[in-house]
Amino acid sequence: MDQRQVFDVLVIGSGAAGLTVALNVADNAKVAILSKDQLNSGSTRWAQGGIAAVLDNEDSIKAHMADTLNAGAGLCNFNAVKHTIENSSAAIDWLIEQQVQFSKDSNDQYHLTKEGGHSHRRIIHAADATGVAVSEALIEQAKKHSNITLFEKRMALDLITCEKFNMPGKGVMGAYVLNDETGRVETFRARTVVIASGGASKAYLYTSNPDGTSGDGVAMAWRAGCRVANMEFNQFHPTCLFHPQAKSFLITEAVRGEGGYLLLPNGERFMHKFDKRAELAPRDIVARAIDHEMKRLGADCLYLDISHKPKAFILEHFPTIYERCLEYGIDMSKQPIPVVPAAHYTCGGIVTDANGRTDVSNLYAVGESAHTGLHGANRLASNSLLECIVYGQSAAGHILNIIKEKQNVPFAPDWDESQVKDSDEDVVISHNWDELRRFMWDYVGIVRTDKRLVRAQHRVELLRQEILEFYGNHKVTSDLLELRNLVEVAELIIRCAILRKESRGLHYSLNHPELLPVAYDTVLTPE
Ligand SMILES: Cc1cc2nc3c(=O)[nH]c(=O)nc-3n(C[C@H](O)[C@H](O)[C@H](O)COP(=O)(O)OP(=O)(O)OC[C@H]3O[C@@H](n4cnc5c(N)ncnc54)[C@H](O)[C@@H]3O)c2cc1C
Repeated sequence: MDQRQVFDVLVIGSGAAGLTVALNVADNAKVAILSKDQLNSGSTRWAQGGIAAVLDNEDSIKAHMADTLNAGAGLCNFNAVKHTIENSSAAIDWLIEQQVQFSKDSNDQYHLTKEGGHSHRRIIHAADATGVAVSEALIEQAKKHSNITLFEKRMALDLITCEKFNMPGKGVMGAYVLNDETGRVETFRARTVVIASGGASKAYLYTSNPDGTSGDGVAMAWRAGCRVANMEFNQFHPTCLFHPQAKSFLITEAVRGEGGYLLLPNGERFMHKFDKRAELAPRDIVARAIDHEMKRLGADCLYLDISHKPKAFILEHFPTIYERCLEYGIDMSKQPIPVVPAAHYTCGGIVTDANGRTDVSNLYAVGESAHTGLHGANRLASNSLLECIVYGQSAAGHILNIIKEKQNVPFAPDWDESQVKDSDEDVVISHNWDELRRFMWDYVGIVRTDKRLVRAQHRVELLRQEILEFYGNHKVTSDLLELRNLVEVAELIIRCAILRKESRGLHYSLNHPELLPVAYDTVLTPE
């Protein structure tokens, strides 16, 4: 990248959050969007269920807020919840304007579905492939906009701040970016930078997320001086397809919402023993119940059954899941689907305000990498895409004000590779990937104990030293960069989990099963 080129906005990530920011500033700003892989490689494209919003006359902002606050287990930021839900129908209108084709019913009205934890039908969706519809429409709009330049296979590796290099000015001034095609590190200069790089669920052995969710944005922001909060709240999706060849395929909660039953291997229903809402209980309760029953029975998986519904109903509502299961020899209209829980969503992240602003000047964070306070201790299903759009729009509004000042951006020192060599031992990377993700699964998973967390902390410290030493001596590759970020994020998750001396929302500790009377965020501040 020619350093003479300065973007008004550098967006790191081409999912729903990044594209929303970009499209909402692009009429008045020069924008670069980076994606470390294909443009649609983030979680957005994988979303199945839909987007929660107040769209029905029977529903209300109050009811959606109450459901969100209830799922968040006393830890939601009330203003964040209010801001998000009050803007929910406008967010959907904007998506429709961007040509997202949501499903309609026979009366030509948008069809709304219901998911666990929601008291009303309020999930707008595009059959069971909402993420594809959102991702394709927004990418299409971004490609058409003359002020937006899209860069694929460009992985941001660190933010450049004036403070780090003793430059005149304040805050972020760009990022170092690995060009995966040339292997070179390029310097992108920008007046504002938006982290929209998604979550960190890849820190766990089993995840419903695509490969790139290695918490890069959280790790970069932390290294640049931003506070990070509530990283212990990783949501485990209760139902991923269990099949040796099916990598991370999720069975949407809408299957339970539309009447699916969870079954033990002997065909018995069990959810009513854990919660009076049975299969419609929030996903943390369902995930813990499945984890409990699997451990109790020593079972490899449990089952999700909707075969009692007519085949036409299943095909209409779940065409993608039906096809995918069939590829693995499972006909969901005739038999139960084998399922296991998997790491699904990172509720914590980079601390931001209502405009997505972080602790570093001119640096914003939006979407799954941000901690706005909306989700509290547990995300209500389908509130996350909504958060991407609502906060993407607020951040865009704020950025447009900032860039009016046309602040000068100093030239940054180029990336220095003179002291490093090519790796001759990539096994260090692959071994540490496996080790890290396995101990996170075993010790920092759905059910935690003090002892397991301390064990995890020892392991992560050793791994961190080894990985940083390797990083310091070798040329960067995307695998090495992801590993470096993962170990950083894993450490943040463990530190937050150790600080929480209670069981709340997604954090469940056998040593501290009670809920403390006063809810607190676990906020970490970089030294
Ligand atoms: C299987 C599945 C189903 C889901 N279903 C729903 C649902 O029904 N409803 C709902 O609301 N939510 C759902 N979610 C959650 C939701 O999809 C995500 O929270 C949301 O899409 C996150 O959007 P994002 O823009 O923050 O990040 P993502 O969509 O994950 O995009 C991240 C982007 O950042 C890029 N990136 C990452 N690191 C770097 C880097 N270092 N340099 C450059 N680029 C980088 C990636 O390439 C990608 O373009 C689901 C998630 C999954 C995995």
